[in-house]
Amino acid sequence: MAAEWDEREETPWPIIEEAARIGLYSFDFLVNGFSDPTGLTLPVAYEELSWGDAGIALAIMGSSLAVAGLAANGTPEQLVEWAPQCFGSPGDLKLGAFCVSEADAGSDVSSLKTRAVYEEATDEWVIDGTKTWITNGGIANTNVVVASVAPELGARGQASFVVPEGTPGLGAGRKFQKMGIRASHTGEVVLDGCRVPGRCLLGGKEKLDERLARAREGKRTSSQAAMATFESTRPAVGAQAIGIARAAYEYSLDYAKERRAFGRAIIDNQGIAFKIADMRTRIDASRLLVWRASWMGATRKSFTAGEGSMSKLFAGETAVWVTEQAIQIMGGYGYVREHPVERWHRDSKIYTIFEGTSEIQRLVIARAVSGIHIP
Ligand SMILES: Cc1cc2nc3c(=O)[nH]c(=O)nc-3n(C[C@H](O)[C@H](O)[C@H](O)COP(=O)(O)OP(=O)(O)OC[C@H]3O[C@@H](n4cnc5c(N)ncnc54)[C@H](O)[C@@H]3O)c2cc1C
Repeated sequence: MAAEWDEREETPWPIIEEAARIGLYSFDFLVNGFSDPTGLTLPVAYEELSWGDAGIALAIMGSSLAVAGLAANGTPEQLVEWAPQCFGSPGDLKLGAFCVSEADAGSDVSSLKTRAVYEEATDEWVIDGTKTWITNGGIANTNVVVASVAPELGARGQASFVVPEGTPGLGAGRKFQKMGIRASHTGEVVLDGCRVPGRCLLGGKEKLDERLARAREGKRTSSQAAMATFESTRPAVGAQAIGIARAAYEYSLDYAKERRAFGRAIIDNQGIAFKIADMRTRIDASRLLVWRASWMGATRKSFTAGEGSMSKLFAGETAVWVTEQAIQIMGGYGYVREHPVERWHRDSKIYTIFEGTSEIQRLVIARAVSGIHIP
């Protein structure tokens, strides 16, 4: 169904429904994954899903981004209340969205313009701003929105809020037409005087006030702890990239054995055979980096060399490179839509962009290994 939903460029509801029916699209599945002491359940599952189709895989996994936002910032009670609502149940599916990026704040998350102002009299937060490039943005039932509550503190003056569907002032902006992963919906989320009750502030007001006071005194805050959380979620993104790369590698290997030119199979040319060798080597290296970082996250080892970023960086760039080699191996057949490799190449590119671009991953790694805060 991958080609069909790529063409349709729509959320594949029947497939998400099937995923919910077998327990794959559920909060329980994530809980099981996170409680695996090896850390390997989620990367294995994500690789397999993306091997099938990365766009459909993201349509199934996109709601977990909101859950990651809930888990990183919410109390256990808030997680238990809201996370299941990001999935719903078979026959009554729901979606979650994690809304951070804005038109002028992608990599530079410290410059978010979305503002949240507390109104003591009503115990409500009033949120204004527009979020862009959001997976499930505009169609989600539960939005986790990051907004600035103390702009003078930059990233340390931010907080996360749950904004449920039906909240007055919450609206959908445009839906984006994309190069790849087209079965995954990407859109804008508009917050116009959006009012949410005080209990929608993740972590609670007392903790926020304490955190802001610490930031004003220049002390370490939990927003730095949040960076550590990202380090442990990045391998899951790398695993998705590996799935695409592996699909392209397997397909082009079979093709290279069958396709004949100049009287022999094209794999009998070292120019092709060595490509295959390099593709497989980089895929296996990516997987080992992803598994190492996943295991480090599960066993709470510290990421002293940016190992989470390393895995996402290498796997993302490997997927782009491998899928391009696959097209080259298939020649004209690789370039046309009768074969899936051109789609895999289109799908792969996002893995060097979202969840932190390759440049940002390099920055994290360089800072970690040098101990220098490289600007
Ligand atoms: C399909 C899709 C889905 C997405 N889903 C979500 C989502 O669910 N939630 C969400 O919040 N966001 C989401 N995003 C947004 C995504 O995370 C951002 O696009 C990404 O972080 C990059 O931000 P930007 O596009 O503003 O690029 P910019 O930050 O403007 O970067 C442009 C270029 O400059 C480079 N650059 C920037 N700063 C530096 C630096 N200091 N050093 C070196 N190079 C630098 C970047 O690496 C990049 O190459 C999604 C994006 C897409 C396309």
